[in-house]
Amino acid sequence: MFKTIEDHIRQQVAPAALRAEFRQHEFDAMRPFCKLVFCVSTLIWLVFDLIVSFLGGQGFTWLSYLFIALLGCLTVVLHFTRRSHHFDVLNLLFVAVITLGMRLVIEGIPVTLRPVWLVLGVSTVLYAVSVLPVRRWSFFCAMAIAWAVLNPFFHTRIEPDELEGAMLFSYALFLSALVIYSYLQMRQAKLHNFYLSKVLLEQAYVDALTEIPNRRSFMAKAERQLRLASSGQFLAMVDIDNFKRVNDQFGHDVGDEVLKRVAVNIKAVVAGYEFARLGGEEFAIFFQGLDEGTAEQRVAALCQQVREDLGVPPVTISIGLARVQAGDSLSMALVRADQALYEAKHSGKDRVVLWTASLAESS
Ligand code: GH3
Ligand code: MG
Ligand code: MG
Repeated sequence: MFKTIEDHIRQQVAPAALRAEFRQHEFDAMRPFCKLVFCVSTLIWLVFDLIVSFLGGQGFTWLSYLFIALLGCLTVVLHFTRRSHHFDVLNLLFVAVITLGMRLVIEGIPVTLRPVWLVLGVSTVLYAVSVLPVRRWSFFCAMAIAWAVLNPFFHTRIEPDELEGAMLFSYALFLSALVIYSYLQMRQAKLHNFYLSKVLLEQAYVDALTEIPNRRSFMAKAERQLRLASSGQFLAMVDIDNFKRVNDQFGHDVGDEVLKRVAVNIKAVVAGYEFARLGGEEFAIFFQGLDEGTAEQRVAALCQQVREDLGVPPVTISIGLARVQAGDSLSMALVRADQALYEAKHSGKDRVVLWTASLAESS
């Protein structure tokens, strides 16, 4: 089953809206990591800058202060960044500043040592960017900036057509290809997992036939509302009258259409409250913040809407309504609504019955 759904998803291209949701989700989850990368990068740059400034005799100049200030500001901006597309731009700025800072440090070491440190610098930046939650355009721009600013052929004594230059050039190509490949693969795998878990969650909480929430969803949401323990909570159990007869007379497919029709009516009449198909031809509704009269009016309106629906065959529903009292568990409320529903069925169907203590005694 899982394999079938997975194959189905692999064959599909994730819709644009889902991709956007994925990017935001990814950024939300990785924001602390992004901050860590910014902070650690700044710190490592500072360590190298201090080494070159003092051991290398270059001196700690105003440029060092400027770069620390810029990197610090960008990290603070990241702290307040909430949208993933803002991070795409912010990360580019960070890459531009830190690579310039790296160039500054490397310019302070002997010219023969520069190429190897430039390549090490690019490798580190590219690796770090490849694991950050950035879009493709931002990733490729960061790559271009890193190679442009830390170009090992610029301000060094290496020529591309000599032995060392040719080797360096081949390595640069290999490194870039490797990083691009792993970035694209990882993004694809993460998107696929996000898509798959979304589909599976939807299937777990939505009724496949009527496309309204299912029992699992209802129980979880109603439990949560119950825990809020606010006043004016009511639980309604809805059951289609003589549904077996519909199936017997018109066939199962028509029965299914009737279930969908009733679900559409419920959705229309009690929009804004929790509702679900509990199973078979039974539905439930959880009302919040209503007085008894209004709750009764709502379910009576639903009864009327189903009765007056022009669909064929016409059907009616019975509803049991129970007030949820302070300290009640969901199962207690369900039992009471069921007792009221039983009474509605036995007193002629196509009606609403409000639970009273006498119903509990008689059942
Ligand atoms: P009452 O008025 O007392 O509620 O009688 P009823 O016939 O509605 O109740 P009963 O519980 O005897 O019948 C429910 C029927 O619902 C039996 C079952 O075949 C049918 N049913 C359950 N799930 C589905 C479904 O998904 N599709 C269809 N078409 N029928 C279903
Ligand atoms: Mg039933
Ligand atoms: Mg029924």
